[in-house]
Amino acid sequence: MKKFQIELQPLNLPLKRRFTISRGSRDEVNNVLVKVHCEGITGIGEAAPNHRYNETQESAMTFLESFGHYETDHPFDVSLLVEMMEEHQGGEYSAKAGLEMAFYDWIGKKLEIPLYKLLQAPGRTGPKTTYTFGIDKPEVMKEKVEESAHYPLLKIKLGTHYDKDIIQAIRELTDKPILVDANEGWKTVEEALDMIQFLDRQNVFVIEQPMPAGCVREMQELRLKSTIPLIADESITGKESLRELSTQFHGINIKLMKTGGISTSLKIIHEARKVGLQIMVGCMIESVIADTASALVGLWADYADVDGHLLLAENPMKGLEILPQGHIQVTDFPGLGLH
Ligand SMILES: [Mg+2]
Repeated sequence: MKKFQIELQPLNLPLKRRFTISRGSRDEVNNVLVKVHCEGITGIGEAAPNHRYNETQESAMTFLESFGHYETDHPFDVSLLVEMMEEHQGGEYSAKAGLEMAFYDWIGKKLEIPLYKLLQAPGRTGPKTTYTFGIDKPEVMKEKVEESAHYPLLKIKLGTHYDKDIIQAIRELTDKPILVDANEGWKTVEEALDMIQFLDRQNVFVIEQPMPAGCVREMQELRLKSTIPLIADESITGKESLRELSTQFHGINIKLMKTGGISTSLKIIHEARKVGLQIMVGCMIESVIADTASALVGLWADYADVDGHLLLAENPMKGLEILPQGHIQVTDFPGLGLH
């Protein structure tokens, strides 16, 4: 029997600059650092609670505290932990992801093997990651374009009444390919189609969540008419029918904090491939800890948006690397590869 001690710490992370999306603004994120200790080895994870799913730093910590210590005869079987957490309480997927991440890190360290090898990833280098611009006045975009000089793909948050002005302001400065994230911001099929037609002439390669989750009929119509691939984000938490989603979108954005962790995300990726969905791996605003776990899952993806840690004023440690051409890469250190 192995006894794991679970240690929690609030992880309050100031952002480089205010970050705005169609739902609101923030200057700081309030995440949770999760550590598991056993046999002198410490596994590290991070939960990034999301208000969209009624989660806060407090609710994540309360869940993990009530889950308590973890004792098991099968420390390498992560599915047992995942089942126990699910039975303990529904929801709180970011907390579950944080604890599972710490366990995976512990397992890799215990076996002295990087997780990309243990999980048999296709390699340790993944797709190019985008660099995200929150919503801002067009005049602020110049600074952001300069800040993102090293990243070849941009992700632009839209969903305002001046979306076209934002894109035009960026296009005066750079012709880099753009991924647009409307965060449910376009309210009718007509509005969305008008934007898609405009964006199709602006070197936009993907659009994330054009309309609100729940607009099923509208999205089905939009999927048939869109000339740009549409990716579900708010419309997928992991519980939905992937076949049903494939009638509304060309792909899905998987985030550890929505699905509850690495193992569930990998299962969803394999199932999604069977129904022809493209895969994007995204992140919340999270530090390099959770982003390194996201990059690990991103090794199986077509698109990566693993830049949460780049938006922070500073990071608690080092982990994933972003190569000069923008590709994500995990390290060869044991476990998640944090150092
Ligand atoms: Mg999104």
